[in-house]
Amino acid sequence: MEQQQETFDVIGVGIGPFNLSLAALLDTQDVKAAFFEQKSEFAWHPGMLIEGTKLQVPFLADLVTMADPTNPHSFLNYISQQGRMYQFYILQRLDIPRREYNDYCNWASKRIESCRFGEKVTGIHRLEDGSHRVDVREEATGSEKSFFTKHVVLGTGSTPALPKALQGMPEEDVFHTADFEIQRHTCRDANRVTVVGSGQSAAEAFRELLKEQRTCGFSLDWITRSPGFASMEESKLNLEHFSPDYIDYYYPLSQEKKDEIFASQGLYYKGISEHTINEIYNMMYEYTVGGEELDVRLLPLTKVTGIEQKDGEYELTCHHYQKEDTYSKRTDKVIVATGYQPNVPEFVHDLSDIIEFDEYGRFKVTKDYRLVEKGENPYDIFANSGITHTHGVGSTNLGLAVFRSKVIVNQLLGEEVYTVQDSYVFQSFE
Ligand SMILES: Cc1cc2nc3c(=O)[nH]c(=O)nc-3n(C[C@H](O)[C@H](O)[C@H](O)COP(=O)(O)OP(=O)(O)OC[C@H]3O[C@@H](n4cnc5c(N)ncnc54)[C@H](O)[C@@H]3O)c2cc1C
Repeated sequence: MEQQQETFDVIGVGIGPFNLSLAALLDTQDVKAAFFEQKSEFAWHPGMLIEGTKLQVPFLADLVTMADPTNPHSFLNYISQQGRMYQFYILQRLDIPRREYNDYCNWASKRIESCRFGEKVTGIHRLEDGSHRVDVREEATGSEKSFFTKHVVLGTGSTPALPKALQGMPEEDVFHTADFEIQRHTCRDANRVTVVGSGQSAAEAFRELLKEQRTCGFSLDWITRSPGFASMEESKLNLEHFSPDYIDYYYPLSQEKKDEIFASQGLYYKGISEHTINEIYNMMYEYTVGGEELDVRLLPLTKVTGIEQKDGEYELTCHHYQKEDTYSKRTDKVIVATGYQPNVPEFVHDLSDIIEFDEYGRFKVTKDYRLVEKGENPYDIFANSGITHTHGVGSTNLGLAVFRSKVIVNQLLGEEVYTVQDSYVFQSFE
């Protein structure tokens, strides 16, 4: 394995929006940094870049603005460089298209020298002096290299979660919404299509299929185990849960209490935006004008407990848990919208000699985003993702990316480069 002799101050693992924000803020500092991403270029949930979908936070939650509005990697600078400032001004919207957010991040990632693509981190090793060796595989050639660094920042994000009951089927027929844009064309030739789940991704997939259902002639079912197709809690005061103040309140609670609170906050992040529900309802209303029958069913309270391949179709076992009724349903395609789970690579678990995990195998994290070490060490491994269990419901919210970057930058540089205020919101959670 080739070994690079230069030592970095920090190496980032993964380039999603969180680590990209950190890379962007570090770009104007005197720091030797490298961020590695396994994909060949920046791509933010490519399977869900559906036309017409919007970023669910204002564009002000870009990579840098909330720390430093003058930073050249801001969204407004991107708009300006695209020659779209006047159009954007007339657009008068804070909620930019999801595709534009992706394009902006891609633009920024190409300008930030520390960002390296097509290189997968395969191992992290603690060295005797407390620094780290990071092993990297170049995806195109398979060649392997090692880099040395003081600090490491994990930003490996999340991976699609497919429930056991729906695993093991051909992926062109039973696929996660993460692959929706890649596979949706296959639904056009199907007789029956089923969407499972009732979050934002499920609703967007259902809405897109609803648009095509009558012309393509497939029947469409939307099944969820939830009691209803509930809307996300998006009131302004509730959005204050996605704030540094809420982290201040939440972080010191016992882990048991945190898990209990988080389990009760599903609609803060898992529901459907009211806008999407309205669109779906309005479409169904219009499609049924004049008594036209819609070959569409919305089935709440129903758990899909199994799937079997039968006669070239799929038989879903469904359980209505209030009526205690189990029945089967045939379909040709299943779109699984059951969310995401933290992506903690195996090499992080291999560090169990030096870092602490809780009883559920989740790493422990300090309030300022360092993995809790078993002993003293001059350098840190930071967690920029996978911290919902320690930092709460806002952990994956893009509105907190820049705040987290500020806290990490200040530690990496050993000084308060960015001010971190005491209070950001109106309410007190204490
Ligand atoms: C469809 C969708 C829409 C969303 N929309 C919003 C929204 O509008 N507003 C909001 O606040 N939140 C939104 N979220 C939630 C959240 O902001 C995103 O999930 C966001 O992408 C999280 O960013 P991240 O940087 O933590 O991880 P990710 O975006 O998951 O990026 C992690 C990166 O790490 C790379 N990686 C993993 N392992 C390695 C390795 N070993 N070596 C190198 N690279 C590696 C992966 O390839 C990936 O590119 C959305 C989530 C989804 C799924």
